[in-house]
Amino acid sequence: MTETFTALMIEDADGKPRAGFKTISLADLPDHDVLVEVAYSSLNYKDGLAVTGKSRIARKLPMVAGADLAGTVVESRSPDWRAGDKVVVNGWGMSETEWGGYSRFQRVKPQWLTRLPDAFSLEQAMAIGTAGYTSALCVNALEDWGMIKPDAGEVLVTGAAGGVGSVAVALLANRGYNVVASTGRPETHDYLSSLGAKGFIDRNTLTEKGGPLQKERWAGAVDTVGSTTLVNVLGQTVYGGAVAACGLAGGFDLPGTVMPHILRAVTLIGVDSVMAPHAKRDRAWATLAESLDPDALSRITQVEPLERVPELAAEILAGRIQGRVVVRIA
Ligand code: NDP
Repeated sequence: MTETFTALMIEDADGKPRAGFKTISLADLPDHDVLVEVAYSSLNYKDGLAVTGKSRIARKLPMVAGADLAGTVVESRSPDWRAGDKVVVNGWGMSETEWGGYSRFQRVKPQWLTRLPDAFSLEQAMAIGTAGYTSALCVNALEDWGMIKPDAGEVLVTGAAGGVGSVAVALLANRGYNVVASTGRPETHDYLSSLGAKGFIDRNTLTEKGGPLQKERWAGAVDTVGSTTLVNVLGQTVYGGAVAACGLAGGFDLPGTVMPHILRAVTLIGVDSVMAPHAKRDRAWATLAESLDPDALSRITQVEPLERVPELAAEILAGRIQGRVVVRIA
């Protein structure tokens, strides 16, 4: 087995987090029960925040970054996993309080592992990654809520050309919804149409503060932006509609009113991927296996080496990444 290997690690530099490549060995890894050889990780918005140090995502230093990993079990002290098993880990505190996927090897807790679904390769699982699996959590949340059906009307996706947004557009379109994409990048319209978007709005129409109750348009929405955008989306949601909110790309504040909720019975559904229980995760992966067309997934994805992550971390925060980035580790 390789003696030493490279990891992208966040360390303390004069009281500030700083990311850099380090050579480490198996002896440096945490003492968790399952050793995984990581084939791929991915780049999520949160990884951008962690690697640039723009937000204090890593709450313990030093920290191997990377909220996702997909790979093969090498050794296991747990009866649930054996050498050779293909596995995926999304979240569970990786890159925050637990060492993550930007490393050739990682030791993880057995309860964090999800078996690689038959429908996907390791690379495809990371093309989906935390962002894509969160899109599926959002779609399931809207459908579970019970009032949104494909014929209900237009469903909005904000931050549509990003990772969560792209997968949400593809999933909703494949399930028969009339998807409208909100994006600040008109040059992505052809790409979003190829994923199934039927209409577009300019994201700037949502970033200016509007009235608490606006013209009703959206039967439902997946919001990755937060802040004024989410408030406007709520104000434009039809009577009895729902919005699944998972993101803060535009800000973490929520400067709105209760009016859409108390006068139009609009529901705001919060979606978290990091500590989501296994039952929700398994359903999300089942939704992805059922409704994510592999051709659409390959249009969404670019594969990049680990060495490019620091540069790409800045790009994702600047809103310049289209779709998803798979990070090749092995
Ligand atoms: P991306 O950067 O890939 O996508 C975010 C998109 O939001 C951008 O592509 C852009 O879309 C839009 N955007 C960026 N900045 C702004 C802005 N200032 N105002 C309005 N729109 C903006 O990130 P991800 O898809 O990886 O993540 C999206 C969000 O979801 C993040 O906030 C992330 O933290 C959150 N998230 C939350 C999870 C959870 O568990 N709750 C899990 C995964 C992600 P466009 O160019 O089309 O306008």
